[in-house]
Amino acid sequence: MTPPLDRIREYRCPACHALLGSTTRRAVTIGAPFVECGCGTYAPRPPFSEWDMLDSRAKVNVLGRGAVWLLSGMIPGLLYALGSILLDRSYSILGFLGAVGAGALLATAAWSTRLLGEIRRSRRRMGDPMYRAKLVEFGTQSRRP
Ligand SMILES: [Zn+2]
Repeated sequence: MTPPLDRIREYRCPACHALLGSTTRRAVTIGAPFVECGCGTYAPRPPFSEWDMLDSRAKVNVLGRGAVWLLSGMIPGLLYALGSILLDRSYSILGFLGAVGAGALLATAAWSTRLLGEIRRSRRRMGDPMYRAKLVEFGTQSRRP
């Protein structure tokens, strides 16, 4: 499915206007905050930022999205309840809670594994002196009028 054009944010080089990428993301996302153009200029890449550069409010925002995953863990419980009704099987609250608990546990495990992987990759980038030098250069370049 193609997202609507007004939701796509393009990253263009501020110097030569080359198209360097695009995203449909709006919320703060862990990733490199800039993209390097072939001409040597750095283009900002919102809403991406490195984990260690996020303030505590942005970190809470990223962590808060885990609630959606927790809610998606309710799906097995709902399927259990629906199956009990449709198949005319006996319904037990323990079975329902077990399905909800297992779903929430699996969803949270999948979400936290993904988040921890993103944080690990972010810290790996930040640990690279070449990347940090580019980040400083990007920051200096962004402050120029
Ligand atoms: Zn360029």
